[in-house]
Formats: sequence, C-alpha cells, structure tokens
Amino acid sequence: MSVFENVKENIDYVAKTMKLDEGEVELLKSPKRIVQVNFPVKMDNGRIRRFNGYRVQYNDARGPTKGGIRYHPKVDLGEVKSLAFWMALKCAVVGIPYGGAKGGIEVDPKGLSDRELESLSRAYVKSIHEIIGPTKDVPAPDVYTNPQIMAWMLDEYEKIRGEHSPGVITGKPIELGGSQGRGSATAQGGAFVLDEAARIQNLKPNKTSVVVQGFGNAGSYMAKIVSKMGYKITAVSDSKGGVLDEKGLDVGKVEKHKEKTGSVKDFVGAKNISNKELLELECDVLVPAALENQITKDNANKVEAEVIVELANGPTTPDADKILDKKGVMVVPDILANAGGVTVSYFEWVQNLYGYYWPAKEVHDKLEKIMRKAFGEVYSKSDEYKTNLRTGAWILAIEKIINAERARGNI
Ligand code: GLU
Repeated sequence: MSVFENVKENIDYVAKTMKLDEGEVELLKSPKRIVQVNFPVKMDNGRIRRFNGYRVQYNDARGPTKGGIRYHPKVDLGEVKSLAFWMALKCAVVGIPYGGAKGGIEVDPKGLSDRELESLSRAYVKSIHEIIGPTKDVPAPDVYTNPQIMAWMLDEYEKIRGEHSPGVITGKPIELGGSQGRGSATAQGGAFVLDEAARIQNLKPNKTSVVVQGFGNAGSYMAKIVSKMGYKITAVSDSKGGVLDEKGLDVGKVEKHKEKTGSVKDFVGAKNISNKELLELECDVLVPAALENQITKDNANKVEAEVIVELANGPTTPDADKILDKKGVMVVPDILANAGGVTVSYFEWVQNLYGYYWPAKEVHDKLEKIMRKAFGEVYSKSDEYKTNLRTGAWILAIEKIINAERARGNI
C-alpha cells in the first residue's frame, strides 16, 4: 500500500473518533497545491540529465507552508504528499504558525559530485521559485539534504529576486542566517519527549536501554544527546547494518568509527546485527530514525520495546500501529517526536525576519518549553478521547487546522 493510502486511512480513522463531517474529511484529504517539475542539469561528463522534482503545499490555513526537501532515488508524489500533510499536523501540534509542505527530487545524491549537487539544487529552485517565499512557503533540509544545499538554494533564490531574503529557507549555515541549534534540533526535541515518556512510564534514565535505528543527522544526534542525559544506548544502525552492546555503546566512538569506515558496522567490542534484528531487540525504548514503513504488520509483534519514539517520519504502518496498541506499547508519534526540527526552523525564520539573533541557550530553552508542553497537550488529548498518543496528537492538530479553516470561511 502506498504511504498516501496509509495517510487517508488514518484520516478516516481519526475523523470517526472526532466525528468530522464529510466536507472536513474531504478538505483534509486534499492537498491545496501540487507542483511537479522536470529540469535539466549538466553533469560532469558534459551530458545533460533530466530530473523529476516535486513541491506539495498541503494546507496553509495556519500560516505559510513549511517543510523540507528530500533527495532520494525513491521519492515519488505519494510520499511527498504524505510528508507535506504530516508537516501541517506537526506545526499544529507544537503550535507554530505554519501550514505544511514538502519537496523532493528523485535522485541518488551519493552518486553526484559536489558540482553536480550544486547545479541540481540551483536548477530545482529555478523551477519552483515563484511558489516559495518567506510569507508563502519556506523549505528546509530533509533526508540527504543539508545546510550547504540550503545555502545554494538561498543564493539562487536571492539572485533571481535581486534582494536578500534569508527567511525563504531554513536549516541554513550560521553565516547565512542559520540558527544556533538547528543541526541537532530534531534529535534534541525527540530527546525532550523521550524524557517525558520515560517519566510517565517510570523509567529511570540510568536503568533505561535505548536502541536507535538510523545514524544520519537525527539518529546520531539522538544517540549522543540521550546518552548524555544518562540513558544507555545499547544498539544503533545505519543502512549497512547495526551494532549491539548490552553494556552500552560509547556513541562518540561509534560516530568516529562511522566517519572512518562509512558505517557503524564492525565497531570494536560490539556485536554486528542486521536492521531487522535491531527492531526486534529487547530494550526499553526504540527510536526509529530512518525512513518510512519500518515497523509493519510483519514485525510489530516481535517488537520488545516498551516505548517507541518516532524520530523518522512515518516509520510505523497503520496495521502495525494496531498490533502495538494491543501489546500496550507506548508510541510517541512522529508528528510530535520529530517536531523539534521544524520548531527551530521557526526560530530561525523569526530571527531572519527580525534580523536579530539568539544565543544557543535561548534556542535550547525555548525548544524545551515547546516540546515538553506539546507532549503534555498530546497526552491530555489522548486521555480525553481514551485513545493512544498518535490519535491524540492527530486530534489536537486537526482541531487547530479545522478551526483555522472555519475562521477563514473555507468550511
Ligand atoms: N524535514 C524536517 C521535518 O520533516 C524539518 C522541516 C522544517 O524544518 O521545515 O520535520
């Protein structure tokens, strides 16, 4: 089943719980604007290659649309639509004044030189510049995009417009108006909610084992931050495989090992395991921090964790969700668990609009307040509806979006 089919299934389920009417459901299932582009890039060998790109602006009732740009060979419209919808929910859950969007290019960036990557990024902005802007739609990094790519995109946009406009994109390098703390923000936000979930489950940090799937930006920072908070990281993995040490991994050393060898695999003193085995490990907290559809109906029954903190977007399918619910696993949903990234993107945008920049501690403290408060609100909402945290988070977000649409006279 495609990811967007899963999204529609979830909308139907939540709509029933909230007793939404047909018009409201239709609105939630319909992206406001879908832009599909195809553009040429001159490769290093002198040949022209064409690429497919997307930008979906799903809902803008609560503010300019916001969301990252993903470079991945498997990017398709269904995935981008789903991610854009989740962004709208995410921004509503943490209460920042944005709608939801997402972009993507169908490409394997690992196969490109730096020059090709720069040309690709600039060409994408040339194709979509008319529909983005600080008060329209504000892109950011996502899977396999980073601050350097944001810098090229900003530069291209400013050249086309003939003016400085740092608020058009977030996740920029500090030198171009990036915010302190943006690089680690997704993980830092996830760490705050993991800590809230642990408190509720009576899990003491030094007696709590945490397993992290994915060692990219979000996963590696998560492992580092959570281990600094006193939790025990027993296993981590990347696309090539994972490592396990029940006594606890030295995450800093694992990171150095990955820098040297290209993978966490074969880390000295730890046992090599597969990604499949990692998801089924006995542990207190499991953090999927890679891609969508990792916990499915085929492996949900084998998940041994008491708490799942979804740092990735959409790691659990609706079928798997039902199984986890029955097993009594507490799932802290993606739209809450990974909202720290877009929250600091919002801080970055505010600083850009003011031209006045905050120190790291201010960013950290403001993020902590928002994340812990959002966890509390999601928890209360799920209590009110006698449901799980995912449904609670969706209800909280959808109520805000529907109220904004109603105030505008759109429903
Ligand atoms: N790509 C990130 C996400 O999925 C961040 C989006 C943003 O900062 O706008 O939440």
